[in-house]
Amino acid sequence: MTAKRHTLVHWFRKGLRVHDNPALAQVFDVARASAEQYQVRPIFILDPGILDWMQVGANRWRFLQQTLWDLDQQLRALNSRLYVVRGKPVDVFPQLFERWHVQLLTYETDIEPYAVQRDTAVQKLAAERGVKVDTHCSHTIYNPEVVIARNLGKAPITYQKFLGIVEKLKLPKVLTKPEKLPQGMQPSEDALEAADAHVYDCPTLEQLVKRPDELGINKFPGGETEALRRMEASLSNEHWVANFEKPNTAPNSLEPSTTVLSPYLKFGCLSARLLYDRLREILARQPKHSKPPVSLVGQLLWREFYYTVGAAEPNFDRMLGNSYCMQIAWQEQPEHLKAWTHGHTGYPFIDAIMRQLRQEGWIHHLARHAVACFLTRGDLWISWEEGQRVFEQLLLDQDWALNAGNWMWLSASAFFHQYFRVYSPVAFGKKTDPTGEYIRKYVPELAKYPAGCIFEPWKATLSAQRDYGCVLGVDYPHRIVNHDIVHKENIKRMSAAYKVNREVRTGKQEDDYDDEDDKPPQKSTGKRKAASRTTGGTAKRRR
Ligand code: FAD
Repeated sequence: MTAKRHTLVHWFRKGLRVHDNPALAQVFDVARASAEQYQVRPIFILDPGILDWMQVGANRWRFLQQTLWDLDQQLRALNSRLYVVRGKPVDVFPQLFERWHVQLLTYETDIEPYAVQRDTAVQKLAAERGVKVDTHCSHTIYNPEVVIARNLGKAPITYQKFLGIVEKLKLPKVLTKPEKLPQGMQPSEDALEAADAHVYDCPTLEQLVKRPDELGINKFPGGETEALRRMEASLSNEHWVANFEKPNTAPNSLEPSTTVLSPYLKFGCLSARLLYDRLREILARQPKHSKPPVSLVGQLLWREFYYTVGAAEPNFDRMLGNSYCMQIAWQEQPEHLKAWTHGHTGYPFIDAIMRQLRQEGWIHHLARHAVACFLTRGDLWISWEEGQRVFEQLLLDQDWALNAGNWMWLSASAFFHQYFRVYSPVAFGKKTDPTGEYIRKYVPELAKYPAGCIFEPWKATLSAQRDYGCVLGVDYPHRIVNHDIVHKENIKRMSAAYKVNREVRTGKQEDDYDDEDDKPPQKSTGKRKAASRTTGGTAKRRR
């Protein structure tokens, strides 16, 4: 390696793209301005320990592996490449700083507590070695820190309040991908590369996926190329974009009724800022259009909302010590949790969703509503943290703030407080799929059940069950709870839990609620009690 040339390192973590990546662009700009002085090494650090401690299922590992390969290709087209370094960031950086004579390190900021802690440690190591560190906020449209600062240092805890703040903020400029580096700027070989030319190569599928038997179909391949293709395809029908209303999309269509851009946004293969920009361009051409919270722009702003509230609460992903979260005495029910996790609850709609999740790594938002409500306040009375953990493992789009925030919402632990609105595991799915085609696909045992009882197989007589080739208790489980009974008991439990929380809380937060509907009930009124019901989805949904 040439001692004279210093290295500029861009550290990819999320933000796995070359378009609209300010931290990468900075490194490229500095290098181009003084080509003879610098070399550029974009890195991704693969911590083998993470393979063990992170709850990441096989499908997500595959998504990451495909994403890294695609990113390497994108960088090679810019006369660079991706250097995958194995180890823990705090262990590898001191070596890299020295080996490569690093002068500048850039990266995109994260909000997750473990990431913040990691980055603080790396910054310290860099400072000790005289390495300049520059960070950029580009995973979200708005910088959560700025939003919080504008709200006098507190996260806005309702969506409406959040909108009121961000409406006044300047939108960031969306960057195109950086210009190619001049030929000949490639770093000279370091000692490790001299010993092994493949030392920094992207991982293979075999290296990342420890349990290949758990891989489902590769319906949503990873990578920036696919992300941009999918965005273009989603936006090609401007009428659809302009009229998008989330509550009118179907949780159980055989092909997705929403964009499925979430895995690409989660890994940063797609810039949320670019998507937002493109949506706004379309809406400018389509003056009659849907609006937040239900529009597509509104969906992206939900993402922003959860990032902002998550950034202000290190315990966002747990009940204890979480300032937003109702304290509820959920029960441990390992058998019920197992049945829910593997799609064996005996409720075909719920089981179909959980099996789709396991196979494909993505389920519709309202399908997430149905299974999350069922696990928690609706039927099983199991903690949302357990559900969060299962989603963490199985979702391609698992995202710390979004997963925790939505689980709190659905369990009526935070942000949403109409606990008396419970999804029916039977009626909700029938609304958009009356003949049960979705169930036939994901719960094939029931494929021969007629539309009349495919959502409620227990209504078929034993001889009919035999005729349909699926006997309950033998080929498909009996339902593990009776929804009609348990959901009413659970509403009473929620009511009691809310009462206790109200008594314990100081009332300090009450001023923050600007939306009457989402306010935690102040006192247990007859009106609210009378409103208890289970819904087939006809009750007003806000998202
Ligand atoms: P679209 O409707 O096409 O929306 C476009 C984008 O907006 C999404 O890709 C997503 O980035 C964002 N978005 C949409 N809905 C929400 C929402 N409610 N909250 C925050 N952002 C939203 N989403 C994740 O990305 N990661 C998660 O870990 C996650 N966990 C969830 C857990 C539960 C219990 C629930 C109910 C929802 C969860 N969501 C999560 C939110 C939502 O279900 C998904 O973002 C959405 O279904 C993704 O599909 P899509 O890309 O087709 O969405």
